[in-house]
Amino acid sequence: MQNKTRWADLFPDEFLKKQSEQSIIYLPLGICEPHGHISTFGLDTYKADYLCDESSRRFGGIVAPTLAYQIHEAGYHAPWLSEVLGEKPTYMTGMPPHVMLHFFMYQLRTFHNAGFKTAIVISGHSGGNQNDFRLAASIFGQVSDMKIFAFSDPELVESHYEGDHAGKYEISQSLYLRPETVNLNAINRMNDADSLGRFAQGEDALEATAEMGKDIIEKSLSFIENLIAEKHENQVIARKPMTYQVVEELYAQLLIRKNEWVTLQKYDFQNETPAESQWKSFERVIL
Ligand SMILES: [Zn+2]
Repeated sequence: MQNKTRWADLFPDEFLKKQSEQSIIYLPLGICEPHGHISTFGLDTYKADYLCDESSRRFGGIVAPTLAYQIHEAGYHAPWLSEVLGEKPTYMTGMPPHVMLHFFMYQLRTFHNAGFKTAIVISGHSGGNQNDFRLAASIFGQVSDMKIFAFSDPELVESHYEGDHAGKYEISQSLYLRPETVNLNAINRMNDADSLGRFAQGEDALEATAEMGKDIIEKSLSFIENLIAEKHENQVIARKPMTYQVVEELYAQLLIRKNEWVTLQKYDFQNETPAESQWKSFERVIL
């Protein structure tokens, strides 16, 4: 296999060589969730995977195993789901924020223990979750000299494009990266009585083009390149393994600050989730 990027695919000596050339670990965060009838479920995962793999190929560094489960349903997700999915079943790999953020701290621990100088986290699912990952990362930074960047993919291009959900922005990226995962012929499927309805499909998806997708992806990669800015040669850091106890203490600090978690809150511009909605009970997670 040429141009290997994945931790899982490397032999030990390959890992050490690659890491000593560029001491960066990338973490792709994805999810399976409805993106209309025009897209397969893994759109957010494909974006994150590609940005991490291509960054590794171009700028060096190693890609950690993808985590294709993500914070969903809680806080601002609930009124959104009530609007775009209603009472339909969801078929998504959503997780509550406390489970994801707790696990995220353990993921950072593995990168810290493996001696990386920098961790770059790219979430293909966005909307506010990235703020919570950054809060967790900042707390983790109290005990680690590993530099941590965490972004959702629309943040990489926010001066050029506005992110969306299964609309022109996202479907363009799919048309460029994985055209076989897009079926624009199904654009009106949502109107059929036997379908799952809108299923979170974006309204301007038909305006998507592979050309725009390429531009979004290239601009995203430039952003990541600027983050890296330098080669981290010989910057593998020998560290003692961080204990579980330390991570639990860090998570306890994060939990104390749960009132700041964006994924537990509704945005001011959103309506309340209707009382009869299946999503009502997800609005608040009692911790
Ligand atoms: Zn998406």
